Amino acid sequence: MAKKVLKFGGTSVGTVERILHVAEIIKKEFVAGNEIIAVVSAMSGKTNELIEQSKKISDNFNKRELDVLLSSGEQVTSALLAGALIKVGVNSKSWLNWQIPILTEGDHSNSRIINMNIEKINKFLSEKGVAIIPGFQGISKFGDITTIGRGGSDATAVAIAKIFNADSCEIYTDVDGVFSSDPNKIPVAKKIDKISYDEMLELSTLGAKVMQSSAVQTAMMYNIPLEVKSTFTDREGTKIFSQENIDYTKSVTGVAYSKDDAKITLLGVEDKPGVAANIFEPLSRNNINVDMVIQNISPDNKTTDLTFTIKREDLLNTIDIIKKNKNIKFENMNHNDKVSKISIVGAGMVSTPGVTYRMFRGLAEEKINILAISTSEIKLSVIINEENTLKAVKKLHTIFDLD
Ligand code: ADP
Ligand code: ASP
Ligand code: MG
Repeated sequence: MAKKVLKFGGTSVGTVERILHVAEIIKKEFVAGNEIIAVVSAMSGKTNELIEQSKKISDNFNKRELDVLLSSGEQVTSALLAGALIKVGVNSKSWLNWQIPILTEGDHSNSRIINMNIEKINKFLSEKGVAIIPGFQGISKFGDITTIGRGGSDATAVAIAKIFNADSCEIYTDVDGVFSSDPNKIPVAKKIDKISYDEMLELSTLGAKVMQSSAVQTAMMYNIPLEVKSTFTDREGTKIFSQENIDYTKSVTGVAYSKDDAKITLLGVEDKPGVAANIFEPLSRNNINVDMVIQNISPDNKTTDLTFTIKREDLLNTIDIIKKNKNIKFENMNHNDKVSKISIVGAGMVSTPGVTYRMFRGLAEEKINILAISTSEIKLSVIINEENTLKAVKKLHTIFDLD
């Protein structure tokens, strides 16, 4: 007998028929003698629909009320799944975040799970019941309902696996596992059988939404093995665990991309100590994360050009802050929000020379201009014009033998 956490994403519970199908998957695991805690997302599209409704009332909808609103999506699927299990003869019960409770800290829309009461649920499991818990939400120490960031049901599942000391944490989704790139955009992408936490963390941070990055981070911190698999096929999924258990035959494991970046260039910036600090300090004070920075070599030692990238949603705010900044002088500012970030990720990169050169050569062959570059031990990211995104991903996928 094993204690298992099974998480079902939005598409997996997207209709009542699919919820009945999920109930059959759970029943099979339960009849095999396992203790099951199931975590569910809202039906696919529901969270976005609720956000749109709030925007019709106000672009600045009250954050506390937004969390009450958004958590309702998962409430619906929890009750439907528990009801479906009861219908197929399995004892089941759902609990909402405040009934457990799932304690969180941090701001509305962006909280973190810090603890959970395990008594009621463990008692129910020992009485041969299947427990259903809504993902994505919790309650603050002030008793307010909170949510834990988009895609957060993954993080709920991992937190439950940790707190309940589960034997496994399985993430059921609408693809067969983690692929070398998004299989819905790059049909030749291949499923990865095993991947390390570090690589998965890079891939998800850089745009692969199949796993939420903070969930991967928690799993890595507590060494909780994860498995990503399909709700709709019986194929083997992808195992995510620590690096020691993986042999690397390839330098690059996957290619990720995101389209939510923007680039700002300041031309003719004074070239003297402290200028970069003066530019970035007010951005950090306003919680604007700067990703890549490039400073050109100054031809005359007087002025230089500085380019940096930020999240697209922060663009207008950033421009405003720079315009109002009395501590910096520059001749001109331009910006581009039609850029995307393409990244190659692989733990094998550390021991393979020439990866950087091959990436740049490949993009050049496709006549794709690189606007900014950033590297770490196991990833290499470039900013390019957004219109070239898929062309670049396909090319890199091919040259690093991932097709
Ligand atoms: P869920 O609702 O089950 O949480 P998500 O939509 O959050 O599912 O994540 C699954 C989706 O992630 C897939 O449908 C796929 O389009 C996308 N995706 C992006 N990159 C990858 C990748 N490298 N491997 C697998 N899927 C990916
Ligand atoms: N329903 C939430 C979202 O769409 C959480 C999740 O699906 O994981 O972001
Ligand atoms: Mg998801």
